[in-house]
Amino acid sequence: MKSPYNDPNDEEKERYAFELANSRHDPHQLLQTVKRIFEGWVLHELDEYAPGLEKLNDNWGLVIEKIKKDTGENISRQKILIVSTSYITVKDVGNQYSFDKDKSLLYLAFEYLVKQGYVVKTINDLIPCPKCGRAILSKDGALFYRRPFSNKCSQC
Ligand SMILES: [Zn+2]
Repeated sequence: MKSPYNDPNDEEKERYAFELANSRHDPHQLLQTVKRIFEGWVLHELDEYAPGLEKLNDNWGLVIEKIKKDTGENISRQKILIVSTSYITVKDVGNQYSFDKDKSLLYLAFEYLVKQGYVVKTINDLIPCPKCGRAILSKDGALFYRRPFSNKCSQC
């Protein structure tokens, strides 16, 4: 599937959902399946957050602990995936988020990835530090977290 990754016809959708479900318990296999189905969606695969984003890093750990508790699966941190498109759309009124109903398959992929220990953020939220490759806030991300924007991390 190509950008913007809207749901295909029912038959194709069912087949992709089946492929995703089949690989969902193996983080590496799952990522390969996601990358094959959603061509070009994953832009960057990063290992960690840059210094200064400890809170996001802590959140990642908390999410993993919660998933382990909820599912009983022994998952661990995988990668920070920076993707091109989100499955949510922003409503104009009140800046509220809502699901894009045409992206249910993309949402499924997102959900499976998170449940295996991946962080999934869009290129509007995070970008890689061009020098060390750790995750830093994008311009919009910095605005959202009320931080000054820099195009590299504090150590580079
Ligand atoms: Zn850096």
